[in-house]
Amino acid sequence: MFDYLVVGAGFAGSVVAERLASELDKKVLLVDKRPHVGGNAFDHYDDHGILVHKYGPHIFHTNSREIFDYLGRFTEWRPYQHRVLASVDGQLVPIPINLTTINTLYGLQLSSPELEAFYERVAEKRHPVRTSEDVVVNKVGKELYEKFFKNYTRKQWGLDPSELHSSVAARIPTRTNRDDRYFTDTYQAMPLRGYTRMFERMLDHPNIKLMLNTDYREIAGIIPCKETIYSGPVDAFFDLRYGKLPYRSIEFKHETLKQAQFQPVGTMNFPNDNAYTRVTEFKHLTGQKHDHTSVVYEFPKADGDPYYPIPQAENDELYAKYKQLADDAPGVHFVGRLATYKYYNMDQVVAQALTLFKRIKEQRPAKRHGGGGWVTGVDRSSYGAALNAPSIVSEIATSISSSSLGTAIGSKILT
Ligand SMILES: Cc1cc2nc3c(=O)[nH]c(=O)nc-3n(C[C@H](O)[C@H](O)[C@H](O)COP(=O)(O)OP(=O)(O)OC[C@H]3O[C@@H](n4cnc5c(N)ncnc54)[C@H](O)[C@@H]3O)c2cc1C
Repeated sequence: MFDYLVVGAGFAGSVVAERLASELDKKVLLVDKRPHVGGNAFDHYDDHGILVHKYGPHIFHTNSREIFDYLGRFTEWRPYQHRVLASVDGQLVPIPINLTTINTLYGLQLSSPELEAFYERVAEKRHPVRTSEDVVVNKVGKELYEKFFKNYTRKQWGLDPSELHSSVAARIPTRTNRDDRYFTDTYQAMPLRGYTRMFERMLDHPNIKLMLNTDYREIAGIIPCKETIYSGPVDAFFDLRYGKLPYRSIEFKHETLKQAQFQPVGTMNFPNDNAYTRVTEFKHLTGQKHDHTSVVYEFPKADGDPYYPIPQAENDELYAKYKQLADDAPGVHFVGRLATYKYYNMDQVVAQALTLFKRIKEQRPAKRHGGGGWVTGVDRSSYGAALNAPSIVSEIATSISSSSLGTAIGSKILT
């Protein structure tokens, strides 16, 4: 008998599994239908011995010391600050838009205060600000919107910015200085030996049994577990009762080239040309030395693995119905990107998982029925109390979500 069945060996499932096993001495069965751990952060050495990210580039960044230190128990870090260039009007310019971007694009020599005045001049005020188009045009005007945002967003989401929530673009940064780092978080680093190695160390515990290539439905009911932690898609858990939650998918085209370096920075964006949105060269991220180099092209598409929840009001409404089912599901805790239908960065998912663990811990000992079976449902009153209790981790989760969730989603317009 296992105490917990954990579905999904990505950040959400693995962090909860590790905490339950290490801190509460629980017996955990962790299953993933893929043949590897790490979820979408999985990396591996390709045929040429170059470390690549199978599901697209993953760059770790956070403002939370706690999250950074927690993951640091399982990996050493390699400091890395991501830089992105966009190909616009035949020039390569930094993204997010900064002083260098504008000066290069227009052949100007503006200073920072002059750039502020420039933004003021080109901005076209919109009232009310309802859509992502409104947000961007309101901030930088129609011309920059068209050069950088409009077509990229159409490729990325299959939707025009005028069809996307204003929240998607609400936090897109525009800078007046020359800071060309893609992220400005306090902690920016890559796991020194890769994400997969970090996950392997996280899950290397005698209380954790790992089953790969296994859909949880194959073993649910056969292998007894007291409670479930579920990090798969929430709609699939309820057999698509209200219909399918829409996702955007991506086709990743990996390539190895017989040259030591392909491009000057980690990622190049192509807002207006090509069917792909961006190209990433992994050696910039990993620091690996090799006489070949590996890159990945991203082609957004409608069907395929679920990657990005599509931020539209009707989808939020549909998710709200699934969330109600999830809240009422006895003995099942929903955590992670797919189970809560939100685009979260890795640090946000770790925060969410640690918060869930803390809640589970605070509810201990679970009530037992007279017959010896565990009450698998969450005790509503203690659940509420746990949620309201001051908690460092839930504070982390809240502060991370509010400070960078907009950026996380917004960056999908830019990146
Ligand atoms: C292209 C791309 C780039 C990204 N880049 C960044 C980045 O640079 N920085 C950043 O911080 N974040 C990035 N992210 C976000 C990051 O991938 C997520 O925050 C993180 O992977 C979420 O972890 P998770 O455990 O919630 O989900 P996942 O990693 O998706 O893990 C869920 C797991 O559940 C398994 N599963 C699902 N259904 C079942 C089932 N029925 N039975 C068994 N197993 C099941 C899946 O196989 C999967 O392994 C990126 C995401 C994408 C798509």
